[in-house]
Amino acid sequence: MSDIIPITPLPNPAAASADGLGCHSGKDQMLDAAAKAGKSEVLAKYAADYPKGAHDQPQSMCPAFGSLRVGLRMRRTATILSGSACCVYGLTFTSHFYGARRTVGYVPFNSETLVTGKLFEDIREAVYEQADPEKLDCIVIINLCVPTASGVPLQLLPKEINGVRIIGIDVPGFGVPTHAEAKDVLTGAMLHYARQEAMAGPVAAPRQARSSKPTITLLGEMFPADPMIIAQMIGPMDLAVGTVVPTREWRELYAALDCKAVAAIHPFYTASVREFQAAGRPVVGSAPVGIDGTHDWLGAIGQACGVSQEKIDVARNQTLGAMRSVLASQKINGRITLSGYEGSELLVARLLIECGADLRYVGSACPATPWNAHDAEWLQAKGVHVQFRASLEQDLAAMHEFKPQLAIGTTPVVQAAKELCIPSLYFTNLISARPLMGVAGAGSLIQVVNAAIGNQARFDEMKAFFGTVGQGDEAGVWEDVPVMHPDFKKEVRRQFEKKQKKRKAEEMG
Ligand code: SF4
Repeated sequence: MSDIIPITPLPNPAAASADGLGCHSGKDQMLDAAAKAGKSEVLAKYAADYPKGAHDQPQSMCPAFGSLRVGLRMRRTATILSGSACCVYGLTFTSHFYGARRTVGYVPFNSETLVTGKLFEDIREAVYEQADPEKLDCIVIINLCVPTASGVPLQLLPKEINGVRIIGIDVPGFGVPTHAEAKDVLTGAMLHYARQEAMAGPVAAPRQARSSKPTITLLGEMFPADPMIIAQMIGPMDLAVGTVVPTREWRELYAALDCKAVAAIHPFYTASVREFQAAGRPVVGSAPVGIDGTHDWLGAIGQACGVSQEKIDVARNQTLGAMRSVLASQKINGRITLSGYEGSELLVARLLIECGADLRYVGSACPATPWNAHDAEWLQAKGVHVQFRASLEQDLAAMHEFKPQLAIGTTPVVQAAKELCIPSLYFTNLISARPLMGVAGAGSLIQVVNAAIGNQARFDEMKAFFGTVGQGDEAGVWEDVPVMHPDFKKEVRRQFEKKQKKRKAEEMG
């Protein structure tokens, strides 16, 4: 630990005094405060990397969860949060819900430590205390909304302490739109660091032996079987699957950079792609899903790696033959709407269509990028409405409009579908967490989707049994039959309207 802890006053302490600001309100004030606090550069970078859309504030979980999750999944990596206690509570709760099995560090603050700049010094002290090279390769410090808006200068932390790498990042909900893109914020920062190290001299080899063949780095979290399935597909082209990014250990970052080409399976890793391109690696979008998707992807990977057309054709024939027979023997019969915030929505949409589904709408909270442009074109050519940066309102409107037999979506979409007696599946847990690539992907998706569509009769039965019980005013636990009080309602409404009028008059006068 350093002997002297210099106090660094915050660039914009006033930001901290605006109590109650966060993802639910006050975005403009937070942005303004952050700009005044010297965070303009990082916010401009985020605005360019993660262009906003219809909804300009998160509608799903706190975006910082994406960065937190990437750090928590890595060996020999400690993660420290700097933010309001309520945000940290939510983030740690979610991380343990998803099986983090790791302590999340937290440097608490109060108005005084934030305003005087002592918070930064507390963070610095915590980092020095944690930096044990016996246990750690890296410490990640994440500034949440309030510390970012207040200008807590994580960039002033040392880049390395006792051989432990220090990575400080700002991940405010008012600058990073989704938790998917927050994964890219940390992954991009790590790749940048690792690339500088690799350029400066020899670096550690990965724990597992490397393939003698040129490798493809896979960009995006995916079902554990998917990389193996992809490895089989590209084998005839004399290529091997290398590292999956985000990685599980620091030294894998070097192996990821040392590839022949990068497959941007998930299309939102803009900062990470920038690092791969800086390392001279070609990047290929989309993924081997369905017959057309696999055909095109194998061709694009082969070309990026300079593989002969003959070998590309061998690889295509090997996979596509098996896939055709699966798709000929099983089909999805039903109208579907699909929405999610994981970034893999367009890939799932392609696969659903190739499996026979009548897909009308796909909404993704992620933006359009060069890496999903081909998927969007393919889907639009099939008459599917593709909505990037989809808002919850758009997802719900699509469900009302197309009246699907199955709604695949986020939690609120699934909840709304159930109320409407429409079978539904939660995208994050039930669709994106299963194999999607190649033959296995098609087989597994058909099974789960058909089972869900087949549940309509059970929904109808439940609806007929429960009727409107538990809806609207009758929601909650009642010991007796609820008694309606229309007179109370009338009085409450009258008082509400009176208050509204008074507020308006005050605003005008
Ligand atoms: S850190 Fe996350 S939970 Fe907290 S205010 Fe920002 S976006 Fe919301």
